[in-house]
Amino acid sequence: MATVFNNTSLVRDDSFEGSLSTKDIQIAVQEVKVQDMPNSALMHRSLREQPYNVVSGHGSYFKLQDGREILDGCGGAAVTLIGHGNAEVKAAIIEQLDKISYVFTSSLITSSAEELAKCILEIPPGGFQHGLEKAYFCGSGSEATDAAMKFCTQYFFEKGEPQRKYFVSRRQAYHGSTVGSMSVSSYLARKVPYEDIVLPNTSFVSPAYAYQYQLPTETEDEYVRRLIEELDAKFQELGPQNIISFIAEPVGGATTGCVPAPKGYFLAVRKLCDKYGILLHLDEIMCGMGRTGTYFAFEHEGITPDIVTIGKGLGGGYAPIGGILVSKKCIDIIRQGTGAINHTHTYQNHPVMCAAALAVQKIVKRDELVIRVKEMGILLHQLLVETLQNCKYVGDIRGRGFFWGVEFVADKQSKASLPPSLGFGMRVVKRAFELGLAVYPGAGTVDGVRGDNVLIAPPYTISDTDLRKIVRLLREAYDSEETKLDLSLRVTG
Ligand SMILES: *Cc1c(COP(=O)(O)O)cnc(C)c1O
Repeated sequence: MATVFNNTSLVRDDSFEGSLSTKDIQIAVQEVKVQDMPNSALMHRSLREQPYNVVSGHGSYFKLQDGREILDGCGGAAVTLIGHGNAEVKAAIIEQLDKISYVFTSSLITSSAEELAKCILEIPPGGFQHGLEKAYFCGSGSEATDAAMKFCTQYFFEKGEPQRKYFVSRRQAYHGSTVGSMSVSSYLARKVPYEDIVLPNTSFVSPAYAYQYQLPTETEDEYVRRLIEELDAKFQELGPQNIISFIAEPVGGATTGCVPAPKGYFLAVRKLCDKYGILLHLDEIMCGMGRTGTYFAFEHEGITPDIVTIGKGLGGGYAPIGGILVSKKCIDIIRQGTGAINHTHTYQNHPVMCAAALAVQKIVKRDELVIRVKEMGILLHQLLVETLQNCKYVGDIRGRGFFWGVEFVADKQSKASLPPSLGFGMRVVKRAFELGLAVYPGAGTVDGVRGDNVLIAPPYTISDTDLRKIVRLLREAYDSEETKLDLSLRVTG
């Protein structure tokens, strides 16, 4: 079967060949017709539907061309940390532009890049000892994933273990859309046409996703043990001496919808990787930079990674920027070896993009926004539970800080998913948007095809009132779609 729904835009994907009813298709066609189809020169995610034009943004809101104000309940894709239109960031960007906008990093650098690295890696008094020594900045999360994959490969090359060639990651994970990062991702919908060009040296194990995969007969400890046994078996199958890295999101992102790992999972993963000298690469592109209530999501797990990828919230929406953070352990090997990082981009450490990210991160630190996320995250969780838990099709509410996923199910007892053809998550998201709320849709939550979720990831600066408004509008959107779903299920069931 082809892909289900275009997961990241408010658009119905025409490649779907599931069991859409005639009425569904009629509705879909109507939706397409209602929209104007200007002959855009831009290659949008959909050739069928024109995205809404946004004319301005301020704080937790952005404004559409038709005058509507939308409350940004998901910070785009968990990107916006300090809201839209921040004057300090704007000033910092202009200040850098006034100095210099570009230098070629083969022999030149600017202090905006140096300071950004310092700002991210600096450990405040009493802070978490992360063991990370150096940062490298590129243009996106996907580029960061590729950079990390190459860095880890070079690490073993210089360490005298050039036979290592495998990457192990998890199903239901997303690490990016370049060929390299896509190869270690299993966001099925985004891989469909590319099966023959993905890297062959990748392997996948189960996600750590208790709600759907922990057995009713199993304790949390037993579930963790089973996951680790599976990982160990995968390592054995490939030969542990042949594996470069294990790649995982500390809190699952766009695919599973904000799933934290069961207690003890990452500690056990760390131990197992150490046993075989396999590098632990944590993808914090979505869940990092304070999103989960600690600056790094791995702090919750009490472990230190060998390499970390960051993106999204790093630039907070003010600059297209991603990066890798590398541990002293890894840097030492290169330091003692060639001393040369064999991976570059023309725009790496770009002065203006680093100045923008630096301004964002300085505000996050100065205004203690991570502590705010941690504290207000408790309220957000409470509100979501109070408002949504008893809804007929709400199966699970999980997450941390300002990073929450609501998973929809057909049946709370069996946790069976809704028919993907109904696109329920997407419908809730669309309805919410009509009501003036942006939330992030997820489909294929459970196994790449089945499962719906919506993701809530507000700016760290959101007001108490607007936080409550997110949950209220989400419930309203859910309610209006629940009635239609009842009907559809009767038709298809
Ligand atoms: C978004 C994302 C990426 C890819 O980042 P891009 O900036 O879109 O290239 C990688 N990993 C995770 C966990 C993400 O959420």
